[in-house]
Amino acid sequence: MTRGPPHPGDVIQHAYLWWHEARRRQYESLQDRPCGVVYAASFNADSLMAKKLGRNDPCWCGSGKKYKRCHLEREYQERENPWEAEQELHKAYSKRTCSVPPDWKSECRGPAIRAHTVPKSTSLKSISRKGHVYGYVPTFAKLTKHKGKIPPELVGINKASTFTGFCSKHDTEFFAPLETQAFNALQEQCFLLAYRALAREIYTKDASAALSDVRKNADKGRPEPDQFAIQALSSSFDIGLAAGQRDNSRHLREMHECLLRGSFSSVRAYVVETAGPPPVMCSGGIFPEETFDGTKLHDLSDPSEHADLLTITSFYDGSRGYVALVWFPGSDTRCVPFVESLSAIPTNELTGALVRLIFEYLENTFIAPDWWESLTEGQRHALNNRMWGIADQFATGQSTGNIQPDGINLPSWAIQARSLIGMICANSAIQPAGEDASG
Ligand SMILES: [Zn+2]
Ligand SMILES: [Zn+2]
Repeated sequence: MTRGPPHPGDVIQHAYLWWHEARRRQYESLQDRPCGVVYAASFNADSLMAKKLGRNDPCWCGSGKKYKRCHLEREYQERENPWEAEQELHKAYSKRTCSVPPDWKSECRGPAIRAHTVPKSTSLKSISRKGHVYGYVPTFAKLTKHKGKIPPELVGINKASTFTGFCSKHDTEFFAPLETQAFNALQEQCFLLAYRALAREIYTKDASAALSDVRKNADKGRPEPDQFAIQALSSSFDIGLAAGQRDNSRHLREMHECLLRGSFSSVRAYVVETAGPPPVMCSGGIFPEETFDGTKLHDLSDPSEHADLLTITSFYDGSRGYVALVWFPGSDTRCVPFVESLSAIPTNELTGALVRLIFEYLENTFIAPDWWESLTEGQRHALNNRMWGIADQFATGQSTGNIQPDGINLPSWAIQARSLIGMICANSAIQPAGEDASG
């Protein structure tokens, strides 16, 4: 997790960072990583551990405040209440905003509404049981109870996958080609899938950034070595977060240019069509770390590396199910080989590969109760492990981003077609390995 959120698991990661046991483990693994090195350069541990700072010196933690106003006698300060910190978290993740281009904001009408990120109101309903689906909902109490390994729980579909990131006018009008028409994998529809996924990523990263002080105050009332660990880890998280925000701004600019041109011809997508609703639904953006055959794409522990974005949306339009991977030309470098490795997977192994991908990267994931409960304990454990790894790879002991076959054979769903949409550079040949090469 050391690139702040290397995955977009900001909600879960924030909760973990507050959770003391996970912090200790993560800190122990921090030092030999680029993020840790970057941070260590600006972080004078010696001044904390060896010589005493003067009261008016800048504080060792890098806050910019005087030592006397920051970490002097921190160990005697009253500890922060984790439940209050959790309230702050809820507040940050309930902020109302509208994620349209700045020029459009004057047209915003109505309050930001709690809209689904998984498109089509029929999507989650189609996989629900009595109005509920499984999802991962971290709280401090649950982290403590389950020692960091929170199992998925049943959540009402009206709460699942929602965020308050668009005003009611834009949520209705802007997404109408997606929400009111059958999905035909038109480039405009693919654009809208990607736009909503990225809007949510930006929203959650902004919320997480607003909670930086909450994370840094977690060391109040704790001994100096703990203060050092908490500040180092929080700062490393913030560095990764800032890198993610920087990269997402680049991707948002690229999408805004499409809107301003009024042309979606540059949108690329790989769309897998299924006969029924996919039992795993999601919406989010990832910086793919490896291809399906294990070729490295990004080193997300290095915050200086600029990351390419791939959005993933899994949904049901009332007659067909879809898993759509969408990206833009500025992200071809990593997304083209990534999608090539997916297209090389035989049809009978395809849904297993998509499930590995979704659980490896996306916390905004919801699961059909009937499907989840039909899995063996071993299958559920393997998927949980991927989800927990989003927040705390040190808890699971596995590296992140590995989506190669893991020997877990999940029940598959029927694939109807796969199609590649949009121009891909001439020298790359992505051919759908499936039965239908339309698009
Ligand atoms: Zn300080
Ligand atoms: Zn608006």
